[in-house]
Amino acid sequence: MKIVVALGGNALGNTPEEQKKLVKETAVHLVDLIEKGHQLVIAHGNGPQVGMINLAFQNQSLLDNSIPIIPFPECGAMSQGYIGYHLQNALGAELEKRKINKSVSTIITQVLVDKDDPAFDSPSKPVGSFYSQEKAVKLKEEKGYQMIEDAGRGYRRVVPSPQPVDIVEKEIITNLIEDQQLVIACGGGGIPVIKEGRFLEGVSAVIDKDFASEKLAEIVDADLLVILTAVDKVAINFGEEDEKWLDQINIQQAKKYIEEGHFAPGSMLPKVKAAVSFVEKKKSGKALITSLNKAQAGLEGKTGTLISRGDE
Ligand code: ADP
Ligand code: MG
Repeated sequence: MKIVVALGGNALGNTPEEQKKLVKETAVHLVDLIEKGHQLVIAHGNGPQVGMINLAFQNQSLLDNSIPIIPFPECGAMSQGYIGYHLQNALGAELEKRKINKSVSTIITQVLVDKDDPAFDSPSKPVGSFYSQEKAVKLKEEKGYQMIEDAGRGYRRVVPSPQPVDIVEKEIITNLIEDQQLVIACGGGGIPVIKEGRFLEGVSAVIDKDFASEKLAEIVDADLLVILTAVDKVAINFGEEDEKWLDQINIQQAKKYIEEGHFAPGSMLPKVKAAVSFVEKKKSGKALITSLNKAQAGLEGKTGTLISRGDE
């Protein structure tokens, strides 16, 4: 099967040392799938990484005016390179260990967004570190950041999250896949760009990696979109007494659950929405949401939440 795998924050961690260690584990799970004969295309998030890069430059430029403030799209590009390097290194090592001859590359990916996307009027995407309420209020006052409470884990800065329209580097990505190479693309949801006349211009926003992965799955004509995250399955009444973990749902059920508000915006909601879009767009396509270390079991139908067309 041709599978687009979207890696979540737990596959990467928060610091370079942590990430370097975690990606080794991530690589084992991914190469397991390759060894089973699947063709993978890898996408990943970059929330903590892009936040760290952005904040480091911002703080340093306040102390030393020879250090420029690095705009958000450039931070996104840096994070793609930094994460891509670690993934390439770890995947390369794991492939070498198993004597699988496949080269790994990262495509610095620009993703086209619509400049009239309503998301630009209401920032919603959490980025960077978690803060206490007190610190959040201070950042809002001092730096003008918009801050929100993120799924019970603390406060984070928010930026606009427009929808992906197209992947600028789609041809090269498709060519590499056809050449049986392992491609890492759309890191952090891609670098958001808008069309200005004939040219493209980066914008300060974050495309949700779940939506960008869906677009990637569509464009590369994947059979399956696998979203790997911190939970084995998707739940309804999540965290409540009557919490119920879902094994298999069709798109009608998924849409009903979305409407009923079972999925937290910015965490599980974009995953379920991305799964629904992919299955809607590709007739035989399916989407699986599970955890990184259950990827293989999920593909074997033993765990995870599978979203398919079902009977319409
Ligand atoms: P990632 O970095 O993989 O995108 P997120 O933290 O954004 O991870 O989203 C995954 C998290 O969503 C889970 O760890 C869980 O805490 C949360 N979540 C919110 N609603 C649900 C739900 N209905 N079912 C399962 N998990 C949920
Ligand atoms: Mg997320």
